[in-house]
Amino acid sequence: MDTYDVIVVGAGPAGLTAALYSSRAKLRTLLLESGLPGGQMNTTNEIENYPGFPDGVSGTELSALMERQALRFGAEKRTAAALGLELDGNLRVVKTDRGDLACRALIIASGAVPRPLGCPGEAEFRGRGVSYCAVCDAAFYEGCRVAVVGGGDAAVEEALYLTRFTTEVILIHRRDSLRATKVVQDRALACPGLTILWDTVVQEIQGKDQVQAVSLRNVKTGQTFTESVDGVFVYVGLTPSSGFCQTLHPTSVLGYVKTDENMCTGIPGVYAVGDVREKMLRQVVTAASDGAIAATHAEKYITESLL
Ligand code: NAP
Repeated sequence: MDTYDVIVVGAGPAGLTAALYSSRAKLRTLLLESGLPGGQMNTTNEIENYPGFPDGVSGTELSALMERQALRFGAEKRTAAALGLELDGNLRVVKTDRGDLACRALIIASGAVPRPLGCPGEAEFRGRGVSYCAVCDAAFYEGCRVAVVGGGDAAVEEALYLTRFTTEVILIHRRDSLRATKVVQDRALACPGLTILWDTVVQEIQGKDQVQAVSLRNVKTGQTFTESVDGVFVYVGLTPSSGFCQTLHPTSVLGYVKTDENMCTGIPGVYAVGDVREKMLRQVVTAASDGAIAATHAEKYITESLL
């Protein structure tokens, strides 16, 4: 079985930073990723709050830069999906769809995926008008009218992005105030191509071959109505990708991995960083910070365990 000093599961900003710090500390480091490096950065049009990029940077560009930097100091990269974790004496074993891998310290950086809305029609029309990624799919909606569901940073930022392509975006939010950061809210309220439907929930996504409408309900008045739309973009939060580490029982009720301030899970030599971790602020900058802290601790842990 291939054995590394450190295995990092997930190549989003947290995992890429962990791999950078770990390999730069001359630890034999493996970066494991099942998809594209960059994680959710890849589905973000513009990142304007990551320090060092005063004019903003596209998510794909920042992903590529971080990956290049992570691999610069010798971290290896492998495409595989982590399926489970086991402890074997001093080793942590990652079970993947391409075989088992072992390490002295493990950094869980598997991130989170979009949470489904759960209404009728959502699963049926996924890929046929229902999308979770405006950056990926906006171009298909040139000249169309689309709905965005949610009131957080992701929903509002991506709704604003969609207005560049569409004739109108309707933002459907279940409350009467947005959760998104104030600066983003202000932009949304001032955007002519964006209409906000307050206190409104989606009852059903309807169509034939493609999405044609959303059936809605005002939660205050109980009034139901239908809006014709060509697409529905769902941004109602995230679900942590922690299924593969359930065997170690380090997760909270919602599936986030609990850690202390040093990113330790409570299981010696096992760390969690970024969006999969239970924490208050989920940003690229805090993901990167988590990665740096975990890798620095992992180095200390490995050194001490070899004494
Ligand atoms: P979020 O902040 O958890 O917001 C989810 C939104 O969806 C909330 O407005 C919530 O409504 C709504 N919602 C949840 N369940 C719903 C349901 N079943 N039906 C209808 N609406 C529902 O999630 P996010 O926007 O994906 O962001 C995730 C994290 O990433 C956050 O920490 C966010 O700050 C961060 N992020 C940051 C940036 C940035 O800084 N530029 C960009 C994107 C994401 P309520 O408000 O009523 O709860």
